[in-house]
Amino acid sequence: MTIPFNKPFLTGNEIDYINDAIHFGKISGNGKYTKKCQDFFESKYGFKKTLLTTSCTDALEMAALLVGIEPGDEVIIPSYTFVSTANAFALRGAKIIFADSRPDHPGIDESTIESLITKKTKAIVPVHYAGVACDMDIIMELADRYNLFVVEDAAQAIDSFYTGKDGVKRALGTIGHLSCFSFHETKNIISGEGGMLAINDERFIKRAEIIWEKGTDRAAFFRGEVDKYGWVDIGSSFLPSEITSAFLYAQLENISKIQQKRLALWNTYDQSLKEYASNLKIRLPKVPDFATNNAHMFYLVCDTLNQRSQIIKALKDEGILAVFHYISLHSSKYFSGKHGERRLINTDIYSDCLLRLPMYYELKESDAIRITNIIRHTL
Ligand SMILES: *Cc1c(COP(=O)(O)O)cnc(C)c1O
Repeated sequence: MTIPFNKPFLTGNEIDYINDAIHFGKISGNGKYTKKCQDFFESKYGFKKTLLTTSCTDALEMAALLVGIEPGDEVIIPSYTFVSTANAFALRGAKIIFADSRPDHPGIDESTIESLITKKTKAIVPVHYAGVACDMDIIMELADRYNLFVVEDAAQAIDSFYTGKDGVKRALGTIGHLSCFSFHETKNIISGEGGMLAINDERFIKRAEIIWEKGTDRAAFFRGEVDKYGWVDIGSSFLPSEITSAFLYAQLENISKIQQKRLALWNTYDQSLKEYASNLKIRLPKVPDFATNNAHMFYLVCDTLNQRSQIIKALKDEGILAVFHYISLHSSKYFSGKHGERRLINTDIYSDCLLRLPMYYELKESDAIRITNIIRHTL
């Protein structure tokens, strides 16, 4: 028997809704399922406006266009993230300034951001790694003081929250000027490829719709606001087909069931390893008091690269796939020559030592326990 790292899943109505979209007679974008999904997100989480996209990568590229990144502008991004977080801004000619991770969590070390701000800085892009919030009070205060935009990379952060100093609990993705989510098959809620741009600053809403629809005012035309539509700005084709949105909507109907199941698995991993973690010299995920856990990921921070390889091998011998995560972007093939000498010590530790355990809707509690038993006996 093998246990993959991830597995796509159906929750009930996915296939029926795809059939319905086809029989309804529209499978291109911005139809009834797109609207159902967008309405769901806006009313459940409080985003001012949402637009489904074909990926989080697309949403990030829209965000870079919207905040008006021009060649030479600087954008502060954690090095420990997926390529798209930085690539979307690099496409517009931005100079990427990579920040280190926190010592206790792979998210951006908020205390280092201010020292990276210059006259050319235009935006900060925090990534809520594993769906756990960055300290958004610190980031928003810096953005205010230096007049910067904040684009949340909330790819992993659906249904997760941040409680600020004011005691208000806010959904991740509602705090920055813009936010980007992913529904890639490896995330909590899936549609194969899929994503969403959330717009919290009203100034961006109108232009976002135009950029989304290939630089045209077609969305306004379909609402009857203009009598013909045409080319009004730059843009691209960022909207998903109704087939994708229909699949996504079926998942959204079951979001609490999905989240409960993932949280139960996450807690099983945590409980079964807690007692042994310090003996094994592994660190378990930390969730700060201001954040919630959406059980996007269960990871270990191993003591050494060698220990991580040992655990991967022991699991693989039993047919179980555990995987490491990002290779720091500042030391990537594309970027290492551009980064300079500034060391990002914590980022490098996560690159070498972080290990993700299988986590998906259909994983059984008994499998999670079996996995932790193998880890305990490896060392
Ligand atoms: C998954 C992910 C992305 C990319 O999402 P796509 O929908 O695959 O484009 C970007 N940033 C982070 C942090 C991610 O985890």
